[in-house]
Amino acid sequence: MSSSTFPTATILGYPRIGRNRELKRALESFWAGRTTAPQLLASTDVLRRQTFERLSELGLNSSIGAIPDSSTLYDHVLDATVLLGAIPQRFSGDAVELYFALARGTQDAPPLEMTKWFDTNYHYLVPEIGPDTPIGYADTSVVNRWASASDWGWVTRPVLVGPVTYVALAKAAEGAPEGWSPLSRIDDVVAAYQDLLIHLAGAGVPWVQFDEPALVTDNLATPRSELIAVAEEAWKKLVAAPARPEILVTLPYGDGRAALPAIVRSGVEAVQLDLVRGELPDPGSVDLSSTTLVAGVVDGRNVWRTDLARAERVLRAAQDLAPASLAVATTNSLQHVPHDTALETWEDPELDANLHSWLAFADQKVGEVVTLARGLEQGWDAIAREVAEATLVLDKRKQAAGVVLPEVRDRVGALDDAARTRVPFSEREPLQTAALGLPSLPTTTIGSFPQTASIRKARADLVAGRINHAEYTERIREEVRHVIALQEDLGLDVLVHGEPERNDMVQYFAEQLDGFAATRNGWVQSYGSRCTRPSIQWGDVARSIPLSVEWTTFAQSLTDKPVKGMLTGPVTILAWSFPRIDIPLSESADQIALALREEIAELEEAGTAVIQVDEPALRELLPLDATKHAAYLDWSVSSFRAATSGVRPETQIHTHLCYSEFGQILDAIDALDADVTSIEAARSRMELIPELAVHGFGRAVGPGVWDIHSPRVPSTDELIELISLAENTVPTNRLWINPDCGLKTRDYPETLATLENLVAAATAVRNRIAAASTR
Ligand code: GLN
Ligand code: ZN
Repeated sequence: MSSSTFPTATILGYPRIGRNRELKRALESFWAGRTTAPQLLASTDVLRRQTFERLSELGLNSSIGAIPDSSTLYDHVLDATVLLGAIPQRFSGDAVELYFALARGTQDAPPLEMTKWFDTNYHYLVPEIGPDTPIGYADTSVVNRWASASDWGWVTRPVLVGPVTYVALAKAAEGAPEGWSPLSRIDDVVAAYQDLLIHLAGAGVPWVQFDEPALVTDNLATPRSELIAVAEEAWKKLVAAPARPEILVTLPYGDGRAALPAIVRSGVEAVQLDLVRGELPDPGSVDLSSTTLVAGVVDGRNVWRTDLARAERVLRAAQDLAPASLAVATTNSLQHVPHDTALETWEDPELDANLHSWLAFADQKVGEVVTLARGLEQGWDAIAREVAEATLVLDKRKQAAGVVLPEVRDRVGALDDAARTRVPFSEREPLQTAALGLPSLPTTTIGSFPQTASIRKARADLVAGRINHAEYTERIREEVRHVIALQEDLGLDVLVHGEPERNDMVQYFAEQLDGFAATRNGWVQSYGSRCTRPSIQWGDVARSIPLSVEWTTFAQSLTDKPVKGMLTGPVTILAWSFPRIDIPLSESADQIALALREEIAELEEAGTAVIQVDEPALRELLPLDATKHAAYLDWSVSSFRAATSGVRPETQIHTHLCYSEFGQILDAIDALDADVTSIEAARSRMELIPELAVHGFGRAVGPGVWDIHSPRVPSTDELIELISLAENTVPTNRLWINPDCGLKTRDYPETLATLENLVAAATAVRNRIAAASTR
């Protein structure tokens, strides 16, 4: 192995979407047939060049592999699947056609499933691996991309999903024997990666990066200790490849200490640790005398300027561990943060000045890495001015208006156990039954109705100033009238207003709450071409205006049936925003809960009898480290209860959860103490329901019967069958009938057809039950 030293400053990855969402535009034109595959690839090449240029401008060395090539057409886990040729049987075609078939499905082949990447809000495409899935070195893109970058003048560092992480994230392919684990194919993946390494070496690649975050989490099917043992063997084999670049293994998103000794023993040249979420190993616990330690001290998960003094302290401690060499990096890929604060201006001049001094998006974080690396190379005095400035900004922030609101602190402090507790469900249930007068198996939806072109146009017209606020309100009211009339026609029992006024279930609330700032260009990739613009929670949260009351009461004025008030819960608001880090998340959650509690009181006062507080992100924030689960579940449940426990017993509280592995958090779902819990279940054919029942879930449940990710209209019979499955475990008097999730991404034709079938199915089952009981 020719030995080249690792660059002192690097990042683990960079946003892939482009400063102006170039990737999104290129993909959408290609999918719409306006451009060809070669044109698509040409435009992504332009984007890659711009990225490399930007990163070298910002100070990453362009000739020794400091610049990661973390670009992808859609998803980096999908890239690994294609690289390994691990294509499920239902797909055919080649190159770009096959790639997007896997990502988005075709007429005959549903796409790969999407799931959240570790504890982030990014979705990856889940590999499907069975005993017979082909696995080999099947795609030369990585080598080609490196060679093209090199032609343009940059020595980049290819970034790949590590072999253990790849198999640990895969699910067993259809037809695999019961209990079979994709982990048993690790040797095949290693063999394929060995081939890749040989090709990379042949091209002259000096460094390659493999991300192994599976080794820092306890939330996967395989215990972490087992994954670490597998990793040691896998990496020993890869290190022994007949020819290869030098290897960096990264351990982002969590504490890498448990995995570090195994990775170091394998003999890879460099290991990265997330030193914000995790810590340095104890001196003497691991021999770093021939390994480069890449210290992730600049946080790639948030938007806050780095406390450089803290980073310096960590780096000095790392120097004391005396690794063979030390480098500075981010904790993880910067794909989770927006590009550049320079693209933002906030209306309020004081807030604008403050936020610009407090924030660091991707480009600013690269700058911080480069500064710290200078300290490492030239001595800490060389960056004393930058460190002092960061400290000064942080100190000043503590005094800034709105960061601490004493009355909010007092009222949160006063939220005691009583404020978080309702009377027992056994007392609430009869009161609610009497108040609401619903049939058995009540039908409802999760909240949103299709977001039509006319809603999007109304929003765009308002933003562009083509209509005023009153005209906008009237257009949204028109939509609400339509949605209410439609639900009455369909015969649904508990109605919703359809959420047409919400661009996004978190942003909508964040924009109205004090303490949050929205961004204009702060896009972050959610999956493929989809981006979200998380709001920034910079100060104490307070509610100075009603958030949703106007819409719910307007909708209720149109019908005699109950209309559900719709709110987003504290955990989900935090999970899908950029929360502040100067106070614990639990404290921010309680502040949001208090604001929701006030909103709920006002809804109730206005006559709302059913109020739903969505917490779809409850599982997402579950810490990767199992020892932290209990504390997290405790505060997240408490904040939900603080929000919802101020109501009268006859007011019915619903919650909604979806698209995550709920098995681990059933106790917590139970502890939310919601009267009705709607939960995604159709996609997994009600697998969750027996789990809930075994668990002894003692309140009402609405297992989703329609997988809303597909335009497919399930037949009435199919729905009856799903309801019957649920009936086996949930008592009929506590069973609700609803879709898996909100309908905003669906179109009207399939929505109407399915809801019609859903009401018909509920009616049929009700009739069957009634007939049986009179017999
Ligand atoms: N009430 C929201 C909606 O229907 C819930 C969405 C979600 O669970 N992600 O859109
Ligand atoms: Zn949902």
